[in-house]
Amino acid sequence: MGDGAWQERNGWHHVGGPRRTGGWKVEIVMAGLPLQSCSALLTRGSERVLVDTGFSSHDSVLRDGLERAGVTPEQITAVVNTHFHLDHIGCNAMFPAAMVYGSRRDYEWAVPIYESVCGGETRREVFRTFYPEVTDDEFERMDQARVLQLIRWLWDPAMLGEMGRYRWIEEAPWPFEGLRLIPTPGHTPGHVALEVDGDDGTYLVAGDARAFQDEATVGLDMPPHNLAQYQESRRRVDAFRGIIIPGHDEPFRHDGTEAPAPEAAREHEGDSH
Ligand SMILES: [Zn+2]
Repeated sequence: MGDGAWQERNGWHHVGGPRRTGGWKVEIVMAGLPLQSCSALLTRGSERVLVDTGFSSHDSVLRDGLERAGVTPEQITAVVNTHFHLDHIGCNAMFPAAMVYGSRRDYEWAVPIYESVCGGETRREVFRTFYPEVTDDEFERMDQARVLQLIRWLWDPAMLGEMGRYRWIEEAPWPFEGLRLIPTPGHTPGHVALEVDGDDGTYLVAGDARAFQDEATVGLDMPPHNLAQYQESRRRVDAFRGIIIPGHDEPFRHDGTEAPAPEAAREHEGDSH
């Protein structure tokens, strides 16, 4: 399915958008790890856009990363969520001045999962409803990873913050020139990646459309909600020729050269404090 079909079906009017060289400074303020999602800070002028906010339990890691970048949570003007898994939205409430951009479709799929699990539905029932493609084998692996226990421990609607700040990307105007939302469904129904005209190249903040550089690492992540869509989205991500920022790994380029994505944490390692 091409962009046009996606846009038409979902009423997207801002996918694509004007291409402009440079402008956005890209910094990783929370490193992508198997059990910690990457948070990317995009800065241009007075705009400070944070893509994904991690687990709620990683709030101090995120705060420290922002501090190293010289930014307070109050100065973040927008949060973009690639999807609504708990490891990407947990600290949304930390940013009182930010508009939150995410997919309504994804939100309306994910939150009932958390409510069901917390309401005591048995595991297999939950996953037959929300992940109809999941095999017994995959379910066993998720069970071992204690995914559902994690949801019970961590889900609290308060992590979302004030819902009046949410701007659903299927409907709301997209105000950021040089940032383009790329529908990448499959991992979740409404997953989006974000293409960035960076001041040192073009970036793709991939979220879990590409969670890891190396496929061998996969196994800790959730199975795709829709495998065929996931594979189609992966083809689009893999065709991107700039710097890819995976959801749970270090930035990289396909040609194997080291990606120069400046990490706030590293830039300041040499500082004396
Ligand atoms: Zn995810």
